[in-house]
Amino acid sequence: MPSTYYITGLARLTERKVRAFRVQLIILIVIYTVSIFTGVYFQSENLQQESLRDQGASYFNLIYHTRAWNSQYGGTWVSKSHGALTNPYLTDLGISANTTTVDGDELTLRNPAAMTREISEFTKEDSGVTFHLTGDEASNPENLPDEWELESLVAFKDGATWSETFDRSGAQDVYRYMQPLAVDDTCTECHTHERYTAGDTEGGVSISIPIADADAQLRRTGFILAGFAILTLIAGIGSSQWAIGRLWQQIRDANSRLERMAITDELTGLANRSAAMHHLRDEYARSRRSGSSLSLIELDIDHFKSINDTLGHAAGDSVLHELGALMSDTVRNYDTLGRIGGEEFLVIAPDTNENDALLLAQRIIDRVRSATFDSPEGIALLVTISAGVSTLRDTDNDCDELLARADGALYRAKDAGRDRVVAAETTE
Ligand code: GH3
Ligand code: MG
Ligand code: MG
Repeated sequence: MPSTYYITGLARLTERKVRAFRVQLIILIVIYTVSIFTGVYFQSENLQQESLRDQGASYFNLIYHTRAWNSQYGGTWVSKSHGALTNPYLTDLGISANTTTVDGDELTLRNPAAMTREISEFTKEDSGVTFHLTGDEASNPENLPDEWELESLVAFKDGATWSETFDRSGAQDVYRYMQPLAVDDTCTECHTHERYTAGDTEGGVSISIPIADADAQLRRTGFILAGFAILTLIAGIGSSQWAIGRLWQQIRDANSRLERMAITDELTGLANRSAAMHHLRDEYARSRRSGSSLSLIELDIDHFKSINDTLGHAAGDSVLHELGALMSDTVRNYDTLGRIGGEEFLVIAPDTNENDALLLAQRIIDRVRSATFDSPEGIALLVTISAGVSTLRDTDNDCDELLARADGALYRAKDAGRDRVVAAETTE
């Protein structure tokens, strides 16, 4: 049977498009999923940094107020009996840092910077958080700013109100937060030699918060998000590819149905005229190439009109259907049988000489004559057909000449009384 003539081109085009669409969809899903999960990851990183900044600001406020409390009293006195040592830098500033109560208790003065440093020792032990009260003119070298603090102090003098950084260069990774401390009257009372002016920013408090836990948390978030992203990718790509696969299968089924419809005669299930002609052209070309023989048998039902006229069109249809099946059963499996007109049929018999074609045609009309056909009314009908046979000649220029000879032979079979086989004349 002729195979794919009309629809295959369309199907191939669609197949290419579907493949491209599948790839585009995968790329889209990957981009979409990666963007969403990367966005969520960066968002959680931002939130974590904001939370560290909030912690830094809270610590700063706490230390600021504690320092202010100390400062408003010009420092606080602590008992030396609990291990407090004299702050030598106060003595350097000309401040009397030791005293003894009337009861004989020895006290020493704690200024804001020293107090901050000592609180920092506490918090360091407790949670690892440290404070650094710093100024670029600090008397105690421990209170001098490091590189980042110095940069921050410069920025504060230019109006910045806070600064932050991540320091991953030390023994432990830390988040650092710093805010400026403005000089007020309580400062200038003691810091006389440092030319401090109230309102100036001469120092600040920097806070270091260990971030090992925050980093671990962020890593966990990253792993969880990556897991979800992979699941989303698998689910998204899997389900979309499955859906496209199903859709594509339906399109292919529809295509092959269309393809079959395009080449099949609906009433008899045989090849239709255009498919039969296409196949004839193919066989003609093949025989011309290989030098093999090729014969045609054109068949036409005798007095078919009278069946329609007496029993109705439906009876005629039923005869056409049954006849198609009977002839199909009679031809060899390498022959092609097509319905090429209302009640006309064509057998394309490749590798068949005239003698064999005549025998085949005779077999067909004999079987038809001896068969009974049912009509919808239940009346058994007898039908005969006539056949014209032609065989390829070297002189043929195209398959139309071969077909025209079969047609002429059929005409003469009708003329000679029908129900017979006639071969094309050598002169035709
Ligand atoms: P002849 O022996 O000379 O071939 O006589 P005929 O009656 O078979 O030929 P004619 O060409 O006079 O009539 C052919 C008829 O076939 C006419 C038309 O109604 C009928 N016919 C063609 N196609 C169909 C069809 O699909 N179904 C039915 N029921 N009849 C059809
Ligand atoms: Mg007829
Ligand atoms: Mg006819």
